[in-house]
Amino acid sequence: MENKINYSRQTQKIIDRIESRRDADDPPRLLLHSCCAPCSSHCMEYLREHFLLTVFYYNPNITIPGEYQKRLAEEKRLIAAYNRQVEEQDFTGMHSTARARRIEILEAPYDPDNWFRAVAGLEGCPEGGERCTVCFEMRLEKAAQAAAEGGFDYFTTTLTISPLKDAQRLNFIGEQMAKKYGTAWLPSDFKKKDGYKRSIELSREFGLYRQNYCGCVFSQNPV
Ligand code: SF4
Repeated sequence: MENKINYSRQTQKIIDRIESRRDADDPPRLLLHSCCAPCSSHCMEYLREHFLLTVFYYNPNITIPGEYQKRLAEEKRLIAAYNRQVEEQDFTGMHSTARARRIEILEAPYDPDNWFRAVAGLEGCPEGGERCTVCFEMRLEKAAQAAAEGGFDYFTTTLTISPLKDAQRLNFIGEQMAKKYGTAWLPSDFKKKDGYKRSIELSREFGLYRQNYCGCVFSQNPV
Protein backbone atom coordinates (compact mmCIF):
# COMPACT_ATOMS: atom_id res chain seq x y z
CA MET A 1 0.00 0.00 0.00
CA GLU A 2 1.24 3.48 -0.90
CA ASN A 3 2.73 5.39 2.04
CA LYS A 4 0.88 8.59 2.86
CA ILE A 5 2.89 11.72 3.51
CA ASN A 6 2.19 13.51 6.78
CA TYR A 7 1.68 17.02 5.44
CA SER A 8 0.64 18.37 8.81
CA ARG A 9 4.08 17.51 10.15
CA GLN A 10 5.63 19.26 7.14
CA THR A 11 3.70 22.47 7.89
CA GLN A 12 4.92 22.41 11.46
CA LYS A 13 8.53 21.85 10.38
CA ILE A 14 8.38 24.89 8.09
CA ILE A 15 6.78 26.99 10.84
CA ASP A 16 9.45 25.88 13.32
CA ARG A 17 12.15 26.85 10.84
CA ILE A 18 10.54 30.24 10.23
CA GLU A 19 10.19 30.88 13.95
CA SER A 20 13.80 29.97 14.65
CA ARG A 21 15.17 32.31 11.99
CA ARG A 22 12.88 35.16 11.27
CA ASP A 23 12.91 38.72 12.39
CA ALA A 24 9.79 39.03 14.55
CA ASP A 25 8.77 42.17 12.66
CA ASP A 26 9.13 40.62 9.25
CA PRO A 27 7.04 37.42 9.00
CA PRO A 28 6.75 35.68 5.63
CA ARG A 29 3.76 36.53 3.44
CA LEU A 30 1.33 33.71 2.78
CA LEU A 31 -1.46 33.67 0.22
CA LEU A 32 -4.16 31.41 1.65
CA HIS A 33 -6.64 30.19 -0.94
CA SER A 34 -9.94 29.88 0.91
CA CYS A 35 -13.10 28.05 -0.15
CA CYS A 36 -15.36 29.43 2.61
CA ALA A 37 -15.41 31.02 6.05
CA PRO A 38 -15.97 27.82 8.09
CA CYS A 39 -13.01 26.04 6.44
CA SER A 40 -10.77 29.11 6.77
CA SER A 41 -11.64 29.76 10.44
CA HIS A 42 -9.12 27.37 12.00
CA CYS A 43 -6.54 27.90 9.22
CA MET A 44 -6.52 31.66 9.82
CA GLU A 45 -6.44 31.29 13.60
CA TYR A 46 -3.44 28.96 13.30
CA LEU A 47 -1.51 30.72 10.53
CA ARG A 48 -1.91 34.38 11.52
CA GLU A 49 0.49 33.74 14.38
CA HIS A 50 3.32 32.92 11.97
CA PHE A 51 2.58 34.64 8.65
CA LEU A 52 1.26 37.84 7.18
CA LEU A 53 -1.90 36.41 5.69
CA THR A 54 -3.81 37.37 2.59
CA VAL A 55 -6.90 35.29 1.92
CA PHE A 56 -7.35 34.54 -1.77
CA TYR A 57 -10.94 34.04 -2.78
CA TYR A 58 -11.14 32.23 -6.10
CA ASN A 59 -14.00 29.75 -6.26
CA PRO A 60 -15.68 29.61 -9.69
CA ASN A 61 -16.84 26.12 -8.68
CA ILE A 62 -19.56 27.72 -6.53
CA THR A 63 -21.76 27.77 -9.56
CA ILE A 64 -24.85 29.43 -8.08
CA PRO A 65 -24.12 33.20 -7.95
CA GLY A 66 -26.25 33.83 -4.83
CA GLU A 67 -24.45 31.04 -2.97
CA TYR A 68 -21.08 32.41 -4.11
CA GLN A 69 -21.92 35.87 -2.78
CA LYS A 70 -23.23 34.45 0.50
CA ARG A 71 -20.00 32.49 1.12
CA LEU A 72 -17.84 35.48 0.16
CA ALA A 73 -19.79 37.77 2.53
CA GLU A 74 -19.26 35.29 5.38
CA GLU A 75 -15.55 35.14 4.60
CA LYS A 76 -15.32 38.93 4.81
CA ARG A 77 -17.36 39.02 8.01
CA LEU A 78 -15.03 36.51 9.68
CA ILE A 79 -11.88 38.33 8.56
CA ALA A 80 -13.29 41.60 9.91
CA ALA A 81 -14.04 39.88 13.25
CA TYR A 82 -10.50 38.47 13.42
CA ASN A 83 -9.03 41.87 12.58
CA ARG A 84 -11.10 43.50 15.33
CA GLN A 85 -9.53 41.06 17.79
CA VAL A 86 -6.08 42.18 16.64
CA GLU A 87 -6.98 45.87 16.92
CA GLU A 88 -8.49 45.39 20.37
CA GLN A 89 -5.96 42.75 21.42
CA ASP A 90 -8.87 40.69 22.69
CA PHE A 91 -8.49 37.00 21.92
CA THR A 92 -11.03 35.72 24.42
CA GLY A 93 -11.91 32.11 23.62
CA MET A 94 -9.34 31.95 20.85
CA HIS A 95 -6.12 29.99 20.42
CA SER A 96 -4.46 33.16 19.11
CA THR A 97 -2.09 35.39 21.04
CA ALA A 98 -0.90 38.98 20.81
CA ARG A 99 1.38 37.86 17.97
CA ALA A 100 -1.64 37.45 15.68
CA ARG A 101 -1.69 39.85 12.74
CA ARG A 102 -4.30 41.53 10.58
CA ILE A 103 -5.54 39.58 7.57
CA GLU A 104 -6.13 40.98 4.09
CA ILE A 105 -8.40 39.60 1.38
CA LEU A 106 -7.81 39.41 -2.36
CA GLU A 107 -10.80 38.57 -4.54
CA ALA A 108 -10.26 37.08 -7.97
CA PRO A 109 -12.91 37.61 -10.66
CA TYR A 110 -15.80 35.14 -10.50
CA ASP A 111 -15.73 33.04 -13.70
CA PRO A 112 -18.06 30.02 -13.39
CA ASP A 113 -18.29 29.73 -17.21
CA ASN A 114 -14.57 28.84 -17.34
CA TRP A 115 -15.14 26.30 -14.58
CA PHE A 116 -18.02 24.65 -16.48
CA ARG A 117 -15.79 24.47 -19.59
CA ALA A 118 -12.94 22.90 -17.57
CA VAL A 119 -15.13 20.12 -16.13
CA ALA A 120 -17.15 19.44 -19.28
CA GLY A 121 -17.70 15.69 -19.64
CA LEU A 122 -17.07 15.11 -15.91
CA GLU A 123 -20.48 16.24 -14.67
CA GLY A 124 -21.49 12.74 -13.56
CA CYS A 125 -18.30 11.97 -11.58
CA PRO A 126 -18.89 11.25 -7.92
CA GLU A 127 -17.55 13.77 -5.40
CA GLY A 128 -13.87 13.06 -4.86
CA GLY A 129 -13.39 11.86 -8.45
CA GLU A 130 -11.80 13.30 -11.58
CA ARG A 131 -14.03 16.41 -11.66
CA CYS A 132 -12.66 17.41 -8.26
CA THR A 133 -9.06 16.97 -9.47
CA VAL A 134 -9.75 19.39 -12.34
CA CYS A 135 -11.50 21.76 -9.92
CA PHE A 136 -8.53 21.68 -7.49
CA GLU A 137 -6.08 22.26 -10.35
CA MET A 138 -7.99 25.25 -11.61
CA ARG A 139 -8.20 26.96 -8.21
CA LEU A 140 -4.63 26.16 -7.15
CA GLU A 141 -3.24 27.27 -10.50
CA LYS A 142 -4.87 30.67 -10.06
CA ALA A 143 -3.57 30.87 -6.48
CA ALA A 144 -0.02 29.98 -7.58
CA GLN A 145 -0.17 32.61 -10.30
CA ALA A 146 -1.42 35.25 -7.84
CA ALA A 147 1.26 34.26 -5.30
CA ALA A 148 4.00 34.62 -7.91
CA GLU A 149 2.66 37.93 -9.21
CA GLY A 150 2.21 39.30 -5.70
CA GLY A 151 5.67 38.25 -4.50
CA PHE A 152 4.29 36.05 -1.72
CA ASP A 153 6.70 33.75 0.11
CA TYR A 154 4.20 30.84 0.14
CA PHE A 155 0.72 29.87 -0.95
CA THR A 156 -1.60 27.13 0.27
CA THR A 157 -5.29 26.24 0.54
CA THR A 158 -7.92 25.71 3.23
CA LEU A 159 -9.27 22.75 1.23
CA THR A 160 -7.14 20.27 3.19
CA ILE A 161 -9.26 20.86 6.27
CA SER A 162 -12.16 18.92 4.79
CA PRO A 163 -12.32 15.22 5.72
CA LEU A 164 -13.97 14.76 2.29
CA LYS A 165 -10.98 16.11 0.35
CA ASP A 166 -7.85 14.15 -0.46
CA ALA A 167 -4.94 16.00 1.15
CA GLN A 168 -2.38 13.85 -0.73
CA ARG A 169 -3.85 14.93 -4.07
CA LEU A 170 -4.21 18.57 -3.06
CA ASN A 171 -0.59 18.78 -1.89
CA PHE A 172 0.65 17.07 -5.06
CA ILE A 173 -1.24 19.61 -7.21
CA GLY A 174 -0.05 22.52 -5.04
CA GLU A 175 3.57 21.44 -5.46
CA GLN A 176 3.16 21.10 -9.23
CA MET A 177 1.61 24.57 -9.50
CA ALA A 178 4.35 26.07 -7.33
CA LYS A 179 6.96 24.66 -9.74
CA LYS A 180 5.07 25.92 -12.76
CA TYR A 181 4.84 29.51 -11.46
CA GLY A 182 8.14 29.68 -9.54
CA THR A 183 6.65 30.13 -6.10
CA ALA A 184 6.57 28.04 -2.89
CA TRP A 185 3.78 25.76 -1.72
CA LEU A 186 3.12 25.49 2.01
CA PRO A 187 2.20 21.83 2.52
CA SER A 188 -0.80 21.28 4.74
CA ASP A 189 -3.34 18.90 6.16
CA PHE A 190 -5.32 21.31 8.28
CA LYS A 191 -7.84 18.71 9.44
CA LYS A 192 -5.12 17.05 11.52
CA LYS A 193 -4.35 17.93 15.13
CA ASP A 194 -8.08 18.56 15.69
CA GLY A 195 -8.12 21.25 13.00
CA TYR A 196 -11.44 20.15 11.57
CA LYS A 197 -12.96 19.95 15.05
CA ARG A 198 -11.69 23.45 15.79
CA SER A 199 -13.31 24.76 12.58
CA ILE A 200 -16.68 23.48 13.84
CA GLU A 201 -16.18 25.18 17.21
CA LEU A 202 -15.20 28.47 15.54
CA SER A 203 -18.12 28.26 13.11
CA ARG A 204 -20.44 27.94 16.08
CA GLU A 205 -18.74 30.74 17.98
CA PHE A 206 -18.97 33.21 15.08
CA GLY A 207 -22.38 31.96 13.90
CA LEU A 208 -21.00 31.16 10.45
CA TYR A 209 -23.15 29.91 7.61
CA ARG A 210 -22.12 26.28 6.99
CA GLN A 211 -23.31 25.04 3.62
CA ASN A 212 -24.30 21.40 3.31
CA TYR A 213 -22.71 20.76 -0.09
CA CYS A 214 -19.26 21.33 -1.53
CA GLY A 215 -19.89 24.03 -4.10
CA CYS A 216 -20.77 23.01 -7.63
CA VAL A 217 -24.27 22.28 -8.79
CA PHE A 218 -23.25 18.64 -9.31
CA SER A 219 -22.35 18.24 -5.67
CA GLN A 220 -25.72 19.72 -4.75
CA ASN A 221 -27.72 17.59 -7.18
CA PRO A 222 -25.60 14.63 -8.33
CA VAL A 223 -26.40 13.82 -12.01
S1 SF4 B 1 -17.62 18.55 -5.59
FE1 SF4 B 1 -16.46 20.33 -4.82
S2 SF4 B 1 -14.30 19.96 -5.33
FE2 SF4 B 1 -15.57 18.52 -6.53
S3 SF4 B 1 -15.90 19.58 -8.48
FE3 SF4 B 1 -17.66 20.11 -7.19
S4 SF4 B 1 -17.05 22.03 -6.18
FE4 SF4 B 1 -15.17 21.14 -7.02
